[in-house]
Amino acid sequence: MARVYLSVPHMGGEEERFVREAFATNWLSSVGPNLDGFERDFEARVGLPAVALASGTAALHLGLRLLGVGPGDEVICSSLTFVATANPITYLGAQPVFVDSERESWNMDPALLAEALADAKRRGKLPKAIIVVHLYGQSADLDPILALGVEYGVPVLEDAAEAVGTLYKGRPVGSFGAVSVFSFNGNKLITTTGGGMLVAQDRAHVEKARFWSQQARDPGIAYHHTELGYNYRMSNVLAGIGRGQALVIDERVRQRRAVAFAYRDAFADLEGLTLAPQAPWGLHTNWLSCFLIDEAALGCSRDALIAGLAAEDIESRPIWKPLHAQPLFAGCRMFGGAVAEDVFARGICLPSSSSLPAADFERVVEVVRLTVRRSREARAAGEPPCAST
Ligand SMILES: *Cc1c(COP(=O)(O)O)cnc(C)c1O
Repeated sequence: MARVYLSVPHMGGEEERFVREAFATNWLSSVGPNLDGFERDFEARVGLPAVALASGTAALHLGLRLLGVGPGDEVICSSLTFVATANPITYLGAQPVFVDSERESWNMDPALLAEALADAKRRGKLPKAIIVVHLYGQSADLDPILALGVEYGVPVLEDAAEAVGTLYKGRPVGSFGAVSVFSFNGNKLITTTGGGMLVAQDRAHVEKARFWSQQARDPGIAYHHTELGYNYRMSNVLAGIGRGQALVIDERVRQRRAVAFAYRDAFADLEGLTLAPQAPWGLHTNWLSCFLIDEAALGCSRDALIAGLAAEDIESRPIWKPLHAQPLFAGCRMFGGAVAEDVFARGICLPSSSSLPAADFERVVEVVRLTVRRSREARAAGEPPCAST
């Protein structure tokens, strides 16, 4: 039987037509109609000017620089996220200050953000930016976070890498912050094999990011440079994949949600295995189907479940390891931490592809149930947990 992966690319059918057009017209570099078209697709969706870049990480790097982040600065950042959220802070010579999640959405806790900002003010060193992550396709509670940004005069950057298609109070995430970024990495809700998008309230920000992304070459025929640039532009070929994928975003959201809710229903009788919270303020795309395990109630540990699935060639993963617990960020300031640590310790992501075949879905459900049953039997017999898997 074929391996079941966590999250695989899912083409909609029109991508090759856009890519063939790029070949037919020889627009094979970092200029062309697909780039313009893909940017317009996002402008229409988010309602803000957009620039297509080589990755979400590149978009974060440029976004933080747009907000003036530089050496010695501090940037407040969600702790429960993928490392790519915070790495660009370090690229710029600045330091992250981490904030824990709240239970309702697993995203930045506004009360702890308030503490972090009050502390920064007391120390006389306000952060240059606040990075709020919309984890696994669920929006953070943006209203109180944006209000704190206004109160302290600190701009908010939305890391919506995992949240293409996500809504907060009916509006797309990425439309709230001063700057926001999306990712089209191969495992995300839509993909260009690799790529990202930066959007901003201020059109001048987007134009500056575009300029920096192409080595910051000043206008004129000479190779004249006054600012530091990067090679961060998306290619017109990959933007063709993006145009095809942009046509199916809403369909992919429906499919991802359907997978998550089908697992929830299939496990309804398994006490101790609970779908990630669906906060009342938004539309959670459930980019990944995440569950929390209560080991005592389930009778099986998170790691035993991952091992049981792996033995049947099914890929599953823990929730992101919080950044404040990473050796890379040892010594960084942290506010709270218990929620992120608990979600990491007990959380699991199950195969979540929008193209997940029904037979594979059934197999995942069956192996989860089998693993739990064996573990419960082993525990009842006094054996070490999950010894049989
Ligand atoms: C994927 C991801 C990124 C980085 O995007 P890339 O396109 O892979 O560079 C940033 N932040 C989060 C939360 C992500 O999941």
